[in-house]
Amino acid sequence: MKEADSKRILVTGGAGFLGSHLCEYLLAQGHDVLCVDNFYTGTKRNIARLLRHPRFELMRHDVTFPLYVEVDEIYNLACPASPVHYQNDPVQTTKTSVHGAINMLGLAKRVKARILQASTSEVYGDPQMHPQSEHYWGHVNPIGIRSCYDEGKRCAETLFMDYRRQHKLNVKIARIFNTYGPRMHPNDGRVVSNFIMQALNDEPLTIYGDGSQTRSFCYVDDLIRGFDLLMRSADGFCGPVNLGNPGEYTMLQLAERIIALSGSRSSIVFRPLPSDDPTRRRPDITLARTVLGWEPTVELDEGLSRTIDYFRQLRAGERDDEVT
Ligand code: NAD
Ligand code: UDP
Ligand code: UDP
Repeated sequence: MKEADSKRILVTGGAGFLGSHLCEYLLAQGHDVLCVDNFYTGTKRNIARLLRHPRFELMRHDVTFPLYVEVDEIYNLACPASPVHYQNDPVQTTKTSVHGAINMLGLAKRVKARILQASTSEVYGDPQMHPQSEHYWGHVNPIGIRSCYDEGKRCAETLFMDYRRQHKLNVKIARIFNTYGPRMHPNDGRVVSNFIMQALNDEPLTIYGDGSQTRSFCYVDDLIRGFDLLMRSADGFCGPVNLGNPGEYTMLQLAERIIALSGSRSSIVFRPLPSDDPTRRRPDITLARTVLGWEPTVELDEGLSRTIDYFRQLRAGERDDEVT
């Protein structure tokens, strides 16, 4: 990359699952990366190898407090993503989404940086439109146990659009659907990491409810490519744009795939369904296809196999550069 094309890029939440992949990707593209994280769910081990990189810098900081740095672009990923974690301290979750967005937008305004927000399919709530396109306004409970996350992310989208209209900021909003892959935390409570760890330990896979609820799972590498295309899209385009894999599976199907692919002897057990758990979710990615030329390429079985390999190595203590 020519020196002139190389940028200084801030990644908030850079020590988390998606953030660590993004930092790695941006360094490989020749950019300077400033990773900001308070290690609430992320870990230094996720970025241990990057610490030796001359163009990588790490700062422990909570985005609910102001941040004064000089950067050309900002990816705002800081926020716990697993329901178990974001419900653990729900007030902090809303603060992170809302105060974090205000601070990062204020920073972007001062330094005239492009800024991308990691929003979520959760803004659609328990959707009454299927599949979900960006035109759909959602069906969200404002006072339930998921609201700290859903409404926090919705408010962040509002702030991004208002900074664009009011302050002419160059913003980008990605609505991310369930994404999985290596470096998910093994205990973070999300379905893919739970099922794989249970399968590898020959323990029963815990299906919440009757397992008929659906999700669409995107492999991490596909998503990171989508982030890059969105950040580099024309100034006039801000999204929101869905980034996800349209393949839709019930949790029962997912459990069966993981048992088969890992060669596990695990059985399946059923546990109560948490409240407000969306019954179905599948992205309409027409907008991403037409505007960004993006679509996922990694099939579920392939992505799950790679993720199972990662967790296997993790259990065997064969990785010192990843989450413990
Ligand atoms: P993650 O929990 O692995 O990473 C989040 C990171 O943010 C962690 O490193 C955590 O320590 C950090 N963080 C949390 N609060 C912070 C704060 N106040 N200040 C600074 N850092 C803070 O989750 P992830 O899966 O990597 O998700 C990253 C982003 O993508 C989140 O904003 C999430 O809402 C969004 N997202 C993820 C998915 C998914 O399936 N992985 C789906 C939709 C949206
Ligand atoms: N901010 C920041 N870094 C900066 C500039 C601003 O963290 O480089 C924060 C600051 O806390 C401020 C918020 O971003 O309150 C919003 O900034 P903005 O300029 O939009 O509003 P104001 O400063 O008028 O509150
Ligand atoms: N789920 C499950 N067993 C688990 C963890 C989750 O059946 O051990 C279900 C959960 O109830 C939800 C789906 O899997 O219906 C996806 O859950 P996850 O927490 O991964 O993501 P989200 O609900 O935010 O999409």
